[in-house]
Amino acid sequence: MGLNPGEVFVHRNIANIVPNTDINALSVIEYAVGHLKVEHIVVCGHYGCGGVKAAMEPADLGILNPWLKNIRDVYRIHKSTLERISDEESRYKKLIDLNVQEQCVNIANTTVVQKEMKNRNIYLHGWVFDIETGKLIDLKIDFKTILDSTRDIYQVV
Ligand SMILES: [Zn+2]
Repeated sequence: MGLNPGEVFVHRNIANIVPNTDINALSVIEYAVGHLKVEHIVVCGHYGCGGVKAAMEPADLGILNPWLKNIRDVYRIHKSTLERISDEESRYKKLIDLNVQEQCVNIANTTVVQKEMKNRNIYLHGWVFDIETGKLIDLKIDFKTILDSTRDIYQVV
């Protein structure tokens, strides 16, 4: 990213999920946005993600089941798009992209981000790291359109 040590505040977990009940992820967002006043928030997934792969398969993985359900929910939301893709590898990559997108939407709909966005700009970025090529891909997600279309459902402040 061309930045110096300490310039990025990082939170990592399996399959870059931001569940609305994850006190760890939500605390990171609260601190970074509400206190550090960060302007840029990046959700970075990666191709070859084992978490997303596992969510595409019908296996009982114990305590991972509720975690992976977040990705299954992304699949449900985008089922028609995903099932139009016949090539399995392409569908897997698309789910990785859409998972990044939905986690960005989850962040945008946190109360702290909604509150801060009333007074200043916060830029959301959905990225995917392609392990095979070493390239960082900007998915160029149109957050304005996505958030405007669901504002009546999620806006609380
Ligand atoms: Zn992964």
